[in-house]
Parts: sequence; structure tokens; C-alpha cells
Amino acid sequence: MDTNMLLKSIPKIDDLLRRPELASLSPTVAVDLARQTAKEVREGLLSGELQTVPSEADFCRTILMRAEDRPRLREVLNATGVPLHTNLGRACLSESAAQAAWDAARRYSNLEYDLDTGGRGSRHSRVEALLRTLTGAESALVVNNNAAAVLLALSAIGNGGEVVISRGELVEIGGSFRIPEIVAQCGCRLREVGATNKTHLRDYRDAIQPETRALLKVHTSNYRIVGFSGSVSLSDLVELAHERGLPVIEDLGSGCLLPLPGGEPTVEESVKYGADIVTFSGDKLLGGPQAGILVGRVQWLEPLKRHPLTRALRVDKLTLAALEATLEAYRDPRRAADEIPALRMLTVPPDTLRRRAEALAELLAGLPAEIVETEEPAGGGSLPDTALPGFAVAIAPAACSAAELARSLRAAERPIIVHVQRERCLLHLRTLWDEDFAYLARTIRGVLL
Ligand SMILES: *Cc1c(COP(=O)(O)O)cnc(C)c1O
Repeated sequence: MDTNMLLKSIPKIDDLLRRPELASLSPTVAVDLARQTAKEVREGLLSGELQTVPSEADFCRTILMRAEDRPRLREVLNATGVPLHTNLGRACLSESAAQAAWDAARRYSNLEYDLDTGGRGSRHSRVEALLRTLTGAESALVVNNNAAAVLLALSAIGNGGEVVISRGELVEIGGSFRIPEIVAQCGCRLREVGATNKTHLRDYRDAIQPETRALLKVHTSNYRIVGFSGSVSLSDLVELAHERGLPVIEDLGSGCLLPLPGGEPTVEESVKYGADIVTFSGDKLLGGPQAGILVGRVQWLEPLKRHPLTRALRVDKLTLAALEATLEAYRDPRRAADEIPALRMLTVPPDTLRRRAEALAELLAGLPAEIVETEEPAGGGSLPDTALPGFAVAIAPAACSAAELARSLRAAERPIIVHVQRERCLLHLRTLWDEDFAYLARTIRGVLL
């Protein structure tokens, strides 16, 4: 058969899509893979590498194989404007943090090796020194995530006894992390005091008894109690606890190292007010890799370092490398705000966002796109009552619904995740990189035109 005849006998995409074997695939994936497979067969026939055309059944087998091979963890473009979007991986690492993780991944390192003595070293010593400098704490420890940090602190200190907490702080974090359940896991009992909206110092004082092991304060990072409300200040709580020889454990949640819009408490403040152990996340406002950080007094942290759970919750070298580089940037606050994507996104002036919206809108000229003012949440359960003023490019598609446009953009080679609002797709500038504007414009044109 001559090549032309062979080319004509390549199965039609529509026929392939009707095959029952492909019914389990999402239509966009099936179309993509069918086109790609057909293109390769065409090229094979033209180059002479292929002398026959695979059957429809063979085509389907290849397509299914490829669907399984499609990398599941893929880069996406975050056009939602939410910098710490938990579903999209929370904080993006800075270039130096990503480089540090890359270097640690590919070669040996002095992870637990002391270059001076030639003997065993500690995997924590470098990050710990940085954390001490940045927070003013005596000691520090890093584990897998903040949930693990709370688990470790309560298991080691609360063990067999009671931990006192205000009823206004029985927090649930997305993904089934609930303070009461964590405490139960840690082999201690929760002693709830006060009311949902108000807790007084005397409530804590009355609850302390011989079995009390610690006073727990949880930062209500993802909600606020407003109106007739009140909680006990950290310094008052510390004073009471120390009178009774008890530690205060504070779960700060987001844990910012620099003052941010929204007035989130900083780790340094908690240390200054005397919290004995402060725990926070590495990949929320800090802008580093997923990690749980504990800082505080030597007296309480040293036993934690030797606790058997610590080994089970330990972080790997990639995390430590990325965290070290992220913390290094914080030694110069201006450098941190510049280099660390999460901080840059949270502090970027609205004017800059407007200028960037204009640049993106220009690339979309001729399409039904306009610049709109927006208010954006920080995400990751941080800064719940802070709306950051920003700008977006809003696209109102004429030939399809906004939800359909959003779906097509999700199916793009590098999926684009937009914010659908009132029949428009919003591309928020806060979480986009300028270098992606050309790709965004090309992809949107491809879908709409
Ligand atoms: C986010 C959060 C956690 C959980 O932190 P992870 O790092 O996601 O494990 C725990 N407590 C509070 C108050 C939080 O905001």
C-alpha cells in the first residue's frame, strides 16, 4: 500500500473517542492523547519507520497506557489570586530554596556529618541556629508539619495528664486536623475552659490541678470571633502558668516571621511574651517547604528532641535544605520580601498589580477582557479577615459559559486555574508570574478563537 493510502486509513479521532475502552477517560484527556497518538503514527508512516497502521484497538491500548503514564503531579498556573492555596501546594519556594533542595537531592551533603571533627553531626544544627537568631528563642526543632509539631509537643508534655484550653480555641483546620482529636491522640485529656466567645484568666486558674501538664493556646488562624468576645493575652497566661510551674504551648498556625498586613502575630512576639513552646507551619506565611517548626525554651525543647516520636516525624534533607535557604533570606527582611514568592505576593502594592493587569490585558486585545479591582484572601487558613486589594483580568466568553472556559483552561498543556465569578473567568495577577503572560494569552486565544 502506498503511504497516502496508509495515511488515509489512520482511525478518525471521533471514531476512537466512541470506543468503549476509552469511556473511563475524561473527554479532554482522551482527545489530547488520541490526537497525539495519531500524529505520531502519521509521522512514523511519513518517515518510513512504520509500514502498517495500528488497528483501532491498538490505538486505544496506546492511549490508555499513556493516560496511566501522564504525570499526576503537574505544574499548574495559579490565577486564583490566593497565594497559599492549599489545593495548589501552598507556598512556592524561592529560587534559592529550590536550588538548595535540588543540590541536596542530587549529591551527598554534610547532612549529619561534622566537617570539623569528621564525626557525626546533627541534621538540625544549621536550621536551629537560624531559627534562634530570627525568633529570639533559646532552642528550635523542625518536624514534618505543624500538625506533627503539635502532636509531638502534646505527646511529650501532656502525656497522661490534662491540657487546659479555651473553648474559643478548639480549632478545626481543613483536612480533619481538630485540636480535641489531636489532644486525644496524644494520650492526654483536654480541659476546656471559658465560653466560645469569652475566656477569662480566672477560668484557667480554676482549672489547674495536680494533673495539669500544660496550658495550650491555639491561634484561631482561620476564623475570628468578633463582637462581645475576649481571650486571655499570652503574657497573662504565661505569668499564671509559670507561677504554677507549667509550660505554655502555643500553636501559632501560620507563624509569620515578619509583620504582615492583617496584623498576624509574629513568632518573635510569642517568644518575647514568654511562650515555652511555639509551633508553626513552614509552608504558610513563612513561604518555605512543608514543615512544622517548634521554637522555645531549652528546658522544654531538649526532651522533645530525644522523644521517640521525633524520629518518626523527622524531615528529610530536601526540606531541610529548602527551609535553611528560606530562613537565610529572612536575615534581611527586604531580601525576604523580594525573594520569597509568598511574601512578595502578600505585600505587592496594588499599583504594581494594576500595571501587570494592563500588560496582560494588552496581550488579550480583541478578546472580551477587562481589568477589574478585586479583594483576595491569603489562603492556607491564614489572615481570615484580611482582604488584600488587587487586580484581575476578567474574561466574559461570548460563545461558551465561564465554567466551560475554566474547564478548557484546566485541560491546557500547563493547566490554568482561574476564578469563576458572575459568568466571568478572573485571572488574578497576584499569583501569576510575568514570564507566563505570553503562554496565558496564547492559550486563552486558542480556546476562544
Ligand atoms: C495550619 C494549622 C495547623 C496545621 O499545620 P500544617 O503545617 O498544615 O500541619 C495547625 N494549627 C493551626 C492553628 C493552623 O493554622
